[in-house]
Amino acid sequence: MSILIKNGRIITAADDYIADIFIEGEKIKMIGSTLDVKADKIIDAKNKLVMPGGIDPHVHLDMPFMGTFSSDNYETGTRAALFGGTTMVIDFILQTQGKSLYSALNEWKGRSDGNAVGDYSFHMAVTDFNENTKEEIKDMIEKEGITSFKTFMAYKGALMIDDRQMVGLMNEVKTRGGMVTVHATNGDMIDFLVNKHKAEGKLSPLYHYISQPEITEAEATGRFADMAYYTGCPAYVVHMTCEGALNHIRAVEKRNQKVYVETCIQYLVLDASLYDKGFESAKWVMSPPLREKKDQATLWAGINQGTVQIVATDHCPFMWKQKLMGENDFSKIPNGHPAIENRMELLFSEGVNKGKITLNKFVEVTSANPAKIFGMYPEKGCIAVGSDADIIIIDPNENHTISAKTHHMNVDYSAYEGWELKGKIKTVILRGTVAVDNNELKIAKGYGKFIKRKKSVGII
Ligand SMILES: [Zn+2]
Repeated sequence: MSILIKNGRIITAADDYIADIFIEGEKIKMIGSTLDVKADKIIDAKNKLVMPGGIDPHVHLDMPFMGTFSSDNYETGTRAALFGGTTMVIDFILQTQGKSLYSALNEWKGRSDGNAVGDYSFHMAVTDFNENTKEEIKDMIEKEGITSFKTFMAYKGALMIDDRQMVGLMNEVKTRGGMVTVHATNGDMIDFLVNKHKAEGKLSPLYHYISQPEITEAEATGRFADMAYYTGCPAYVVHMTCEGALNHIRAVEKRNQKVYVETCIQYLVLDASLYDKGFESAKWVMSPPLREKKDQATLWAGINQGTVQIVATDHCPFMWKQKLMGENDFSKIPNGHPAIENRMELLFSEGVNKGKITLNKFVEVTSANPAKIFGMYPEKGCIAVGSDADIIIIDPNENHTISAKTHHMNVDYSAYEGWELKGKIKTVILRGTVAVDNNELKIAKGYGKFIKRKKSVGII
């Protein structure tokens, strides 16, 4: 099978030019102006933008949580991702405290194998670092292609590790050539506030927000960065939301330390005023919570300054009836919101079309940097001869409206209902096969492949 994309404006993290792309099998074979070559399929991309497929490095599919599961599984989640221009996702495996990393990997494989429509990989969340876990790190990196290890500084008794374990893990991961990522919030401070508000009878979703003030994230971010500096371990902060946390990263850059920072689309475009809507606010109950306008401004600036490298989603959808588990107690509302399908078009419309970021920056934070930081570049994250033909074609001027009625995520509401966007993903190609064309899915469950990752390519 071969495809010729003609006359498109090709955008990568570095380039912007008009050319044709010839795809054969799963790879890009040729790029040039007016390519004279026979192809099984010709796509005219005149007046459209041609970019590398999106990579969302922070999603939770089919994740066990509070006796239930996040409502998108590998099939519905990666399918919705494709409709939104994301050709690959990285999901999180959660080690069960007291058990091995391999038992968690096998459990996750049981749910993912053969079920994905789009490509995927895993981060391994280490929730119990001990002598046995330490032995498994090398095999995760070298045999399984899982090179990033997630940690939690919150959720004591379930996911949190203490600083002794954090330093031990960093030491081992550094030696083996991996990276440690972190949910950086101070779990003890948050637990104190949650218990205080519950004791006072303050049980609405608003108190989820009030229980996680900015300083709980800023403090943990600074502490994590210091431990990474002390051990020399490559480090990455997931879902950063606020100015206080980013200021710690700006400070450590003065000693020439690099800590990678991911934010998520919701922290750029939504704010805490949404917690004023009674129980409807449960739609936006996530951790960390939405912040203030000044934090949005800081994050946009961080993207342009290069202190924020990635815009992800932390996609973790729950049906409304699952959210209702916390109707009378905010601490029982499943945390997370749906965005896997909306990330690219929201960032394009709110970022590029409103003049906050350039087209090159858009590709950098949605595709090139995730590929580089997580060891998949240049197979993924760029348009170049020899790269995987993961390509999206965007009409930059088409208007459309987000709605739960038309989205493909398996969730019965949208966190962005009624938002009018400019810029629509028209065609999505995954490893040389048209996956989505004009709102129609062209591939099936099982096409998505597990991508083994290499060690990170270094400082960006
Ligand atoms: Zn997450």
